[in-house]
Amino acid sequence: MILSRTIPETRSRVNELKKKKGQLGLVPTMGSLHEGHISLVRKSTAENAATAVSIFVNPTQFNEKQDFESYPRNLEGDLARLGDLKVDLVFAPDAAEFYPEADERVFDFGGLDSSMEGKYRPGHFNGVAQAVTRLFDIIEPDSAYFGEKDFQQLAIIRKLVRDLKIPVRIVGCPIVREADGLAMSSRNKLLSADQRKSALRISEALRLARAQSGEVPVETLKKQTLGFLHQDPLLKAEYFEIVHAQDLKPVRNWSDEGRKIGCLAVKVGNVRLIDNMDFSL
Ligand code: AMP
Repeated sequence: MILSRTIPETRSRVNELKKKKGQLGLVPTMGSLHEGHISLVRKSTAENAATAVSIFVNPTQFNEKQDFESYPRNLEGDLARLGDLKVDLVFAPDAAEFYPEADERVFDFGGLDSSMEGKYRPGHFNGVAQAVTRLFDIIEPDSAYFGEKDFQQLAIIRKLVRDLKIPVRIVGCPIVREADGLAMSSRNKLLSADQRKSALRISEALRLARAQSGEVPVETLKKQTLGFLHQDPLLKAEYFEIVHAQDLKPVRNWSDEGRKIGCLAVKVGNVRLIDNMDFSL
């Protein structure tokens, strides 16, 4: 496994890999890897002759300085973990290397960013798009792997690739959870023991709500779910939305056509967690 820290080295290593091996899969991450990330890596190594993993805590997608600074980082541990898998290349640039000049590109997501994460984290998806398009430009992967954990991000990346005609296949991968149901996240490491217990309520709230979908009216269910979360004083929900999977527009009635996803963002102390579940009947 090669560790590359610069763009020129990454370009030339990737070219060699493609010539020698063939199809290349890319797994973009911010590191502090857990089984959720590893599931994406395994999918890529199963589907491609070569796999690259990027590890970059992208400053432009953080809308809060404190969140960026406290975000867990563990490059050595990540490399050890990836070393056991069939990963060919790890690209771990620092910000000055990745953004030699300020990236001022502004993307249009056609409204996909107007709710949920986009609403509560202004500029977040623009920063994601800056990093992801730059990664695609440097690595030119055949396929790129993203988790459904970040459901809105996945929808936005699919649109971005379509609109900009970037020749990459986007592969969505299911959410990986801890045994008790908490969605895996690098931020889980920041939770105290008490907060970790409270955080369990997030996936419970989604499961309870899903069990009542189709029975309780959508708006009532949203209120009930927020009420359930707020029974725990350590939790502060930012939103609970039930949206159409394709366009992320709010579901008004259960009889609406198509796949429906319940999406939740909750602050547990200073730690902001997101989760979602399929609410299709
Ligand atoms: P991050 O390092 O948080 O930016 O995540 C990198 C990629 O891993 C993104 O595509 C995430 O959606 C995905 N990911 C993060 N957590 C999980 C999880 N629990 N299950 C599946 N994919 C995940």
